[in-house]
Amino acid sequence: GLADRLQSTMQKIRGKGKVTEADVKAMMREVRLALLYADVNLKVVKDFIKKVSERAVGQEVMRSLTPGQQVIKVVKEELTALMGGEQSKIAVSPKPPTVIMMVGLQGAGKTTTTGKLANHLRKKHNRNPLLVAADIYRPAAIKQLQTLGKQINMPVFTLGDKVNPVDIAKKAVEQARTDHHDYVLIDTAGRLHIDGELMDELKNIKDAVKPDEIFLVVDAMTGQDAVNVAKSFNEQLGITGVILTKLDGDTRGGAALSIRAVTEKPIKFVGLGEKLDQLEPFHPERMASRILGMGDVLTLIEKAQASVDEEKAKELEKKMRTMSFTLDDFLEQLSQVRNMGPLDELLKMLPGAGKMKGLNNIHIDEKQIRHVEAIIQSMTTEEKQKPEIINASRKRRIAKGSGRPIQEVNRLLKQFEEMKKMMKQMTNMQKKGKKRGALK
Ligand code: GDP
Ligand code: MG
Repeated sequence: GLADRLQSTMQKIRGKGKVTEADVKAMMREVRLALLYADVNLKVVKDFIKKVSERAVGQEVMRSLTPGQQVIKVVKEELTALMGGEQSKIAVSPKPPTVIMMVGLQGAGKTTTTGKLANHLRKKHNRNPLLVAADIYRPAAIKQLQTLGKQINMPVFTLGDKVNPVDIAKKAVEQARTDHHDYVLIDTAGRLHIDGELMDELKNIKDAVKPDEIFLVVDAMTGQDAVNVAKSFNEQLGITGVILTKLDGDTRGGAALSIRAVTEKPIKFVGLGEKLDQLEPFHPERMASRILGMGDVLTLIEKAQASVDEEKAKELEKKMRTMSFTLDDFLEQLSQVRNMGPLDELLKMLPGAGKMKGLNNIHIDEKQIRHVEAIIQSMTTEEKQKPEIINASRKRRIAKGSGRPIQEVNRLLKQFEEMKKMMKQMTNMQKKGKKRGALK
């Protein structure tokens, strides 16, 4: 594959103390072959080689102490740029719901990815999406989406297969507004090949619901075809991003490199399997590192962190539900905050917390945290578990022990009460949310 080809090329020059123009030429031949072998679009390869060559024979490389390393750096930077540079985000409509249309050919992975994306929006962004079955042609397409919806416990909007997809989409957005869904994910029909009828239907849906995003789902295994499909959809319909599926398969990866360059639309996510959690945001820089065989440390770290956080969030959620959250837990949370980032971020991770307006305004700085810690540590075990027993004389003792004014002790106790109240509301909201999830 591309990674191996490039890596062996890099290995050859890695140790070199001096790079001549001839070296660069020889190397670029290798890179060119590797890219073509990986099924990267010919024009994309030409432009890429030109850019890298110009930089590689330039001053920044030739004058440096480690020219071999510099060339690798240039190749990596240009690979990153080729795939879009910065990682791009999903739109958030200022006037919810944010509407996302999923389009693509049959079998590309639209329906599966619609489920994955809904799961991602809830798990990573605390969003509450409505799935919409607008593929009325493929047998069992509606059922497939409903099955996915059940797996992730999310409502699926359908009007059966007798209603026009344009009307389905319109009604779904209205329903989402009524039910306070912040995202609407419309799973549309595909065809084996691009045809006028399909495009017309997609255009009509687009005109009717004015989506904030149109994600084209393409199968990475189809190589150059994926690039051509992306080009046509972009020209005929206009897309805002691409989701590349089946990157877990035996693909040479060329599509990832060409699509952005050909369509000028970013790859937003990649599908890495059939399971609902096998969707990852696309990071151009990490993909470039991976291609060059430099490892993918950042993704690993992120994953490790996410799993730890998820566990802690779960534990906390259970405490909330049983209302057994004590000042000790509060303290524990605060010490985690130091390691994990700001408390507001932590709170946003909690299920249901995204819907709470007040949470966006919570901000606690380091110094305050240390003071709060001092106050809680000056309490007895009983006081921490039952703060309601803390009377005036206990407050004076705690204030003295922690070296903080008594008003601060009062404020902390009040904040803790507020937090408990908020948790109660959140727990109730979640219960209601589950009931609403019965929508068919
Ligand atoms: P649609 O016709 O575009 O809606 O495609 P589907 O969502 O029905 O998917 C077609 C097939 O591709 C299904 O068997 C999916 O399980 C499979 N699939 C979708 N995404 C991925 C992926 O990222 N990796 C793998 N290995 N299979 C996938
Ligand atoms: Mg489908």
